[in-house]
Amino acid sequence: MAATVLDGNKISATIRSEVASEVRVMADAGIRPGLAVVLVGHNPASEIYVRGKVKSCEEVGIYSEKHAPAESVSTEELLELVTGLNLRDDIDGILVQLPLPPQIDSKKILMAVDPAKDVDGFHPINVGLLSTLRPGLVPCTPAGIIEILKRSNIPVASQEAVVVGRSDIVGKPVAMLLINGNATVTVCHSKTRDLPSVCRRADILIAAIGRAGMITRDYIKPGAVVIDVGMNKVTDRSEFERLFSGNAKRAEAFKAKGSTLAGDVHPEVAEIAGYLTPVPGGVGPLTIAMLMSNTVRAARLRRGSGVRLSLAC
Ligand code: NAP
Repeated sequence: MAATVLDGNKISATIRSEVASEVRVMADAGIRPGLAVVLVGHNPASEIYVRGKVKSCEEVGIYSEKHAPAESVSTEELLELVTGLNLRDDIDGILVQLPLPPQIDSKKILMAVDPAKDVDGFHPINVGLLSTLRPGLVPCTPAGIIEILKRSNIPVASQEAVVVGRSDIVGKPVAMLLINGNATVTVCHSKTRDLPSVCRRADILIAAIGRAGMITRDYIKPGAVVIDVGMNKVTDRSEFERLFSGNAKRAEAFKAKGSTLAGDVHPEVAEIAGYLTPVPGGVGPLTIAMLMSNTVRAARLRRGSGVRLSLAC
């Protein structure tokens, strides 16, 4: 039987509408959450992401502003910008769009963001708060994955979860959230021995690798929940055929654009998994929704409004 598709667009729309209601309640108390996005240079993919983020802010009523220093900006100049945003009371969230140009010390910049305004949840203070179950800001994509599971009534406690990928942005924080949710968690990476057999233990498999269609049916326990975080641009015709042979809709789009977006999970997995997130339309839409949610959360945490807060795990 084909896997049930977990519709990220639908879950994201629900979360954004909840955030919009919260923003209205805050407006009644005279508070408008504010997000500052820093976009250096003209990376086309980053420009698209930032446009999406600013548009989503408008839709839910969050104030937003974009800062666009030139590609040649120095670490010192960028630090000055971040420090200025840290000091502003009308800014609750600061997001520095990655990647930064090579002359910039990215770690130094991310460390400079006030942890209370770190809506990406990358600052070591927020990493520590997450791992010690204290209220803080949780990275958006991992938080979104947990929302997909929760809102689809998929139990986490006591389940075997396997995370493939150990990045600071996805793999490690989602593993921590799953541990906090009482799953038994295994984290895999490029040096893991016999990856398919480790993955076949998973009731919940999270693929955050960055390799199109790497997770094939041999990696899947029948009925497993499979969350595909990967976003890979496929331009090669034979790679396209390996993944999407017989998919007329994809083939038409591939012909027109010369590329298609593929996850880390091979589409054949739909024949064996119990639940599966599609790409596009799975985890991706949750990332922006959780950014909105984190901005409101940062506003509440920072302003100590006494309104009920719930951890994202
Ligand atoms: P990353 O920093 O490159 O990390 C990739 C991880 O995968 C690393 O831990 C790496 O292992 C592991 N890996 C690579 N090849 C492997 C292999 N053959 N077998 C086992 N493990 C392997 O990537 P990331 O930032 O976490 O992103 C992962 C994917 O998610 C990308 O496609 C990215 O575009 C996507 N993504 C999507 C969203 C979204 O909103 N949907 C957000 C963020 C990222 P090592 O540590 O040993 O090198």
